[in-house]
Amino acid sequence: MTNILVTGGAGYIGSHACKALAQAGYTPVTYDNLITGWQDAVKFGPFEQGDLLDRARLDEVFAKYQPAAVMHFAALSQVGEAMSQPGRYWTNNVTGSLNLIEAAVAAGCLNFVFSSTCATYGEHDNVVLDEDTPQLPLNAYGASKRAIEDILHDFEAAYGLNHVIFRYFNVAGADPEGEVGEFHRPETHLVPLMLDAIDGKRDGLTVFGTDYDTPDGTCIRDYVHVCDLIDAHVLGLNWLEQGKGSRVFNLGTGSGFSVMEVIDHSKAVTNREVPYSIGPRRAGDCTKLVSGSVRAGQELGWTPKRSTLETMISDAWRWHQNGNYEK
Ligand code: UDP
Repeated sequence: MTNILVTGGAGYIGSHACKALAQAGYTPVTYDNLITGWQDAVKFGPFEQGDLLDRARLDEVFAKYQPAAVMHFAALSQVGEAMSQPGRYWTNNVTGSLNLIEAAVAAGCLNFVFSSTCATYGEHDNVVLDEDTPQLPLNAYGASKRAIEDILHDFEAAYGLNHVIFRYFNVAGADPEGEVGEFHRPETHLVPLMLDAIDGKRDGLTVFGTDYDTPDGTCIRDYVHVCDLIDAHVLGLNWLEQGKGSRVFNLGTGSGFSVMEVIDHSKAVTNREVPYSIGPRRAGDCTKLVSGSVRAGQELGWTPKRSTLETMISDAWRWHQNGNYEK
């Protein structure tokens, strides 16, 4: 069996990746420091606890498993926190990723799949966001991811590190079979917070700003189902295995929904009221982030299958009601 090193495999997106990799015949080896991940989410392959900042531990894990590729999910990923604690983002995300990339190259593991973000684009008025859009991030999270993209580019030139970079739009939903799902402590993402509010697990949702230049004044995002996102990662891994070289792909559906539209869909899916109030803007938020790219479809053959708001919210709702890692 071919080993794939999955950093952040105990987290939301990484755990879905491990499931898909195992189903595709790979052995996903999770490397995670469990600061934001959950050991109970590691169900599909071996677990190695470790930090990206610990180079000796990384070298040990590369030597033990000799992975054919790395899928790098581990990161701090909250916009609000990135604004107030930028140093943590630069250290954990950039220095940590540099350590990982150096360890991969030293071990001769030259296929690398990286989770980047549409937050690297920043604010662009009336521009379709495709992979060639200038990257002008508004927050330290986006800036840290852009810096890692630059590192990958330089390491390709120097050492032949083949990489696929995926710039995610907003990931939502959960494994429809309920084995893994989204579970952050603290939670900061719209869909799980809204489901908590619907369920009475928190007082209500705060809508961050209604004075944006959008039809209803709330921010617009492009939501993609976590399982569709991970399908693209397996295709990206195959792309690298076939020697097709380094490439950047946006992963979004091209459809944007405002915060108020997500609330309305959630009411319809759950048949419950969403308690919410209006609050101020959250620092670092862009008005609108919607993918304008068809590259992943055309070149990877990626077709999102579960990325309607209804399916994402109903999969997340089922997980929310039945699954978590604190039991
Ligand atoms: N949002 C909100 N209230 C919340 C959390 C998020 O209004 O409690 C908004 C946020 O301003 C953004 C959208 O929901 O416009 C998605 O935010 P999230 O944190 O889920 O993802 P991000 O876009 O930051 O990656």
